[in-house]
Amino acid sequence: MICYAEKIFHLSSEVLDGVTDHRSLPRISTSLVVKAVLAVYWSRLGSLNALEMTRAAKFWNTWLGRSLCSADSLGRIVASLDVATLRQGIHHLYQRLKRNKALPDLHGLGVAVLDGHETSASYRRCCAGCLQRTTSSGQIQFYHRNVTLKLLCGSPPDRPAVRLLLDLEPQRAGEGELATAWRLLERVLAAYPRAFDVVLADAYYAVAPFLNFLLVHGKDALVVLKDERRNTYQDAAGLWAQQPPQPGSYDSRSCRWWDVPDLLSWPEVKGAIRVVRSEESWTVKPQLTKEVTPQTTSWVWLTTLSVTQARTEQIVRLAHLRWDIENHGFNELVNGWHADHVYRHQSGAIECFLLLAFLAYNLFHAFFALNLKPEVRRGRTMAFWVRLIAAEIHAVPRLFLTTAPP
Ligand SMILES: [Zn+2]
Repeated sequence: MICYAEKIFHLSSEVLDGVTDHRSLPRISTSLVVKAVLAVYWSRLGSLNALEMTRAAKFWNTWLGRSLCSADSLGRIVASLDVATLRQGIHHLYQRLKRNKALPDLHGLGVAVLDGHETSASYRRCCAGCLQRTTSSGQIQFYHRNVTLKLLCGSPPDRPAVRLLLDLEPQRAGEGELATAWRLLERVLAAYPRAFDVVLADAYYAVAPFLNFLLVHGKDALVVLKDERRNTYQDAAGLWAQQPPQPGSYDSRSCRWWDVPDLLSWPEVKGAIRVVRSEESWTVKPQLTKEVTPQTTSWVWLTTLSVTQARTEQIVRLAHLRWDIENHGFNELVNGWHADHVYRHQSGAIECFLLLAFLAYNLFHAFFALNLKPEVRRGRTMAFWVRLIAAEIHAVPRLFLTTAPP
């Protein structure tokens, strides 16, 4: 994987050497620290102390060109990293993948998913960047939240789709998630002006200022519409009561779709809006009863995409992809990569560790999707590759075990 990253991305010269920090007289090089933290994520160690236990592994001398520094130094140096240089590293990966045509559009559109996440919560520890809330028992709880943007791509020929985490923005004390998302999108739109056409988001983002912000920047929105009291929802509901549904299918579900374009019932939005509803039915056979049981679900989405930009079927498929960021984005980072572990409780450090997790995640997924040949990948799960990587980081040289057994 490291050889692949050097060959395709020039990892050392174009990414690692570009990362700087704010120390005045550094004794340990910044790139060494970045390399060590990438390896912590790749091998899913989950803590800097677990890293200390691998100190004797021969991997470190090969990868770092010297022995590993202490966990304390790592945490301290990561806290002083310049976040802009980490973001440049992620941008470099995107550029190379784009140039190599590894990030094709999805259903004819460039698609990004926006989502807010809480990464850690504590009653005892807090820092200058902590948000706080009072729980029902009256206790003050401190926590961190951020908004993430992920690029969803189509699959290159004979390859799984590459998943790319583009950027994140920490939510500041006293501000709502929308303000955080704005800051994130402003930075991302400047750095990645042509990376995506449409942003998928949950019902929280079904508000006029968000839709207008995207329209002004030449982008579209596709969001969940939940509020049944809202005029737009009621207008669309009135129309779909009179409209015969289009039959369709999604996965193995049979669907009935209603597509109501050109709604003008939301004058605050600076463009035409369209509401799509999908009623989906399928059957399950629970192990206990073994009886075929019918299931149904109903979705309503709001979009600024016109009918010529995306047909009803495309809207339904794109809208369901919002869950991709839940299943393969942050959930994978938290459950598989321990990205919510607070390696050092300090707002700058939390942001830097998360951006390093994004870098590690993007490199791993690019390697998995683009470098592993289908016959090598076949029959082996992603967990298999993770264990293989972890095994290398734990392998101690033979000479290290010199003491003869009693
Ligand atoms: Zn904090």
